[in-house]
Amino acid sequence: MSDTKIQIKGMITTEKKLTSSDLMQLEDKHGAHNYHPLPVVLAKGEGVYVWDVEGKQYFDFLSAYSAVNQGHCHPKIIGAMMDQAQTLTLTSRAFYNDTLGVYEKYVTEYFGFDKVLPMNTGAEAVETAIKLCRKWAYEKKGINENDAKIIVCDGNFHGRTTTIISFSNDPDANKNFGPFTPGFIRIPYDDIDALEKALQTENVAGFLVEPIQGEAGVYVPATDFLANARGLCSKYNALFIADEVQTGIARTGSLLAVCGNCTCEKKCEKQATYAQPDILILGKALSGGVYPVSAVLANDEVMMVIKPGQHGSTFGGNPIAARVAVAALDVVADEQLALNARRLGDLFRSEMEKIIASNELILKVRGKGLLNAIIVNDTPDSQTAWNLCVALKDNGLLAKPTHGNIIRFAPPLVITESQLMECVAIIKKTIENFKK
Ligand SMILES: *Cc1c(COP(=O)(O)O)cnc(C)c1O
Repeated sequence: MSDTKIQIKGMITTEKKLTSSDLMQLEDKHGAHNYHPLPVVLAKGEGVYVWDVEGKQYFDFLSAYSAVNQGHCHPKIIGAMMDQAQTLTLTSRAFYNDTLGVYEKYVTEYFGFDKVLPMNTGAEAVETAIKLCRKWAYEKKGINENDAKIIVCDGNFHGRTTTIISFSNDPDANKNFGPFTPGFIRIPYDDIDALEKALQTENVAGFLVEPIQGEAGVYVPATDFLANARGLCSKYNALFIADEVQTGIARTGSLLAVCGNCTCEKKCEKQATYAQPDILILGKALSGGVYPVSAVLANDEVMMVIKPGQHGSTFGGNPIAARVAVAALDVVADEQLALNARRLGDLFRSEMEKIIASNELILKVRGKGLLNAIIVNDTPDSQTAWNLCVALKDNGLLAKPTHGNIIRFAPPLVITESQLMECVAIIKKTIENFKK
């Protein structure tokens, strides 16, 4: 809890414990209004739980957009961070350090690629993948410089940089932020015919796709879409680029969403549905939500087109990030989080189906593993989903609407069956008592 000196009306200076209301006012007054948070002020987290400033406990059903898959403040991850923070934090890449290579070996073996390029945020990793894809296109595929095109999907969310919003079709994301970066072709999501047609246009370098569209509202493509897309990219010599920033690291019931139905804790190629990306983009849960760590993985044929000095980041691959990421991935394997996400995800959707069958308010549940969404029976511009999230909060469960009338449910993957059933009971009670 925060004790601090605050000024009230510019006059009284006092030692006072700030309340949730004080803290919301501070953010509102002094912070840019680029988010619209649910009115809850969190002060502590452990596992699947978070607590507000007044000490009320909640289930976290957002997990910081799937960054906290390993649960809040996992002792193994926090231990690695504390240890490294007291030893060496940042060297820059001007020098070698004693953690980066160890991490690089670990993460490339874990996901089955020759090389990793470490960055910090998801958006930076997507930018890196775009640059890598373009450079490969000019230097390996033989496309004329500045002509490369990358195929993307309607409804995509890949981050907030100027280039990334250039190919978004969400007006909130790009209205009045132009001029935009050219070189992208947008096709409908989960439309294999549209993909093949786009791949036949000249100068296509790659296809950038979310294996499940998270921000758009948890759209799960047809079972064979990713594998077929992989096949088509090979056929037309374009790179298949999977943005698994949200879907990766066990969230959807397999280590990666491109793994199809395999629950192996490390990458394998057993499944017919496995869609090996040429470039894999990871972020969020790569650190268990304790530190910004992102990564781009590729084989040498692609990654080695980048030479010293051509791309980088001061903080990318720093010693804390390296130690934290190893610990975070260890937890995923040790605690079999993919298996847990798969099993409890199936249970969660079947419980939601029961609620839907006896209630008019919710139309549908969809998702994979523990990345799910319910569709509220109202217009996209109504306040119903928001109000339902406020009611869920009052009943001890935190979730947030995404794109209008859709509520995403994504608890930490360390959740147990009995905790999940408690959450189902909260959701059921809230829906049954809800008045529009
Ligand atoms: C969150 C997200 C990003 C961006 O990550 P940041 O760390 O917020 O920059 C990119 N792609 C997907 C699919 C995401 O969910």
